[in-house]
Order: sequence, then C-alpha cells, then structure tokens
Amino acid sequence: MIFEGQIRKMITENLDPIHYYLNLKNDFLDVNAQLGKKIKIYYDHNECLGCGLDKEIFRMGYCKSCFFTLPQANESIIRPELSTAHLGIEQRDLEWEKKFELQPHITYLAVSSELKVGVTRETQVPTRWIDQGASSAIVLAKTDNRYQAGMIEVALKEHVADKTNYQRMLKNEIPDVDLIQQKDLFKIYIPKEEVGFYQSDNSIYTFNYPVLQYPKKVNSLNLKKQREYEGTLVGIKGQYWIFEDDTVWNVRGHEGFYIIFDIY
Ligand SMILES: [Zn+2]
Repeated sequence: MIFEGQIRKMITENLDPIHYYLNLKNDFLDVNAQLGKKIKIYYDHNECLGCGLDKEIFRMGYCKSCFFTLPQANESIIRPELSTAHLGIEQRDLEWEKKFELQPHITYLAVSSELKVGVTRETQVPTRWIDQGASSAIVLAKTDNRYQAGMIEVALKEHVADKTNYQRMLKNEIPDVDLIQQKDLFKIYIPKEEVGFYQSDNSIYTFNYPVLQYPKKVNSLNLKKQREYEGTLVGIKGQYWIFEDDTVWNVRGHEGFYIIFDIY
C-alpha cells in the first residue's frame, strides 16, 4: 500500500494504549494498525507548513523565510515567558498573538524521561503530554494567559528539568516519581505574582503507548542524510516511530517533508 503526503505531527487519541494517526491531507494513515508491518519511507521533496513551497525546511516544518516571519514560529512559542500580547505589544502579528496567548494555560509537571516542568494551552491537555511521550503528568497551575504560565515555568526551571531526554524516553527508562509529592515540593517556587493560579486538584494523568519492543540503543533516522529507509514498525511513543532494528523516526522532526510510504 502506498501512502504519501506532507508530514505534520501525528494526531493522537487518548486511549489505552494511545492511538496514532498520520494526516497526509489526501491520505489518512492509522499508524497503530501498521505495527508489525514493513514500512519503506522515501523522502521525495519539501512542502513548507507555511507557504507550501518546495523550499528547504529550516525549523519546525517551516522554510527559512516562514520561520522568521510567521507568528507560529516566533520565539515566544518555545519560550512562553517572552509573550507580550497581554501588554498589547506586537511581535509578529498582534491579532494572532492575542488569540494564541490570551487564553488559559497550564504549567505542569510530567515524567517522560525524568521529572520536568512545562507549559501548554489548556486545550492541549492531554495532547501535549502524549506528544512528549510522557508516562504521567499533573497540573501545577492554571493561568489566564501564556506569559503567566511561562513565568512559573522559568522559576521552576531553576530546580527541575524542562527538556525530555528522548533516548531515555524511547528506551522506557522511566524513574518512579510521586507526582503529588513533587508538586507539593515545587509549589513554593511559584512566583508571588502567580501564586493564585496554583491548582489543588491532584488528578494524575497516565499514558500507555503502543510499543511491542523498546529500542536497546537509539539510532535516529535523519532523512536529510539518508533519503530512504526500510524497517519493521514495532512501536509508537511520543511523536516517534520505533523500528525493530533500533532505528527511531521523529515524525515531528520531519514536518514539512513530503514522504512516500510503502507498507507491506
Ligand atoms: Zn515557507
């Protein structure tokens, strides 16, 4: 079976285990249903997520000119504390930034490789955690806007990681962490201005991923260097495909690539 299209991050459904779909515009691929099958991946050309043109992908699925002009790729996307829409200050497109930043945000603690802190829009719960391959997560604070959630994250980053070690996440080397206890410990680091956003609800979210076999060591597939790859799919975790030979493919890291899949 041939499937082809522009790569965007996989769509997920919070089931047990998590269900993954690849939305290829004209094709819709149920990725879980491909477990155990042989897949050939061929990188044909580029299709920038912004302009749609066949230009070299620079970062986040965008070509260089889209990356440096579109509000979707502004620095405050990665660093929420740099948000300025709440002050009415434009960075790239104030209308877009107001819509994106001036909505409820969550500062959370999650365990993906180790304990980490992060920020997401409330509407991205639990999608954000699934995209990171988190095993569990808890909400620390719920704020009115992106800036406030970012300020809490900045304060906590002094004491806890804010990045996932993707190799350990994929190998499933997950420490046993008591999230309620950790939340209690980190509560004191919430800045005075944001302390009112603390959430006392201690619901813990847990996630199981469709993985038949975890990699022993991790070999990351880079289609820019190696245009074609073929292997048997044995797992999906975070935004990664895991193959039988310990190759892993970061789907999100290839956004904007136009790929042809041959599955048999
Ligand atoms: Zn572009």
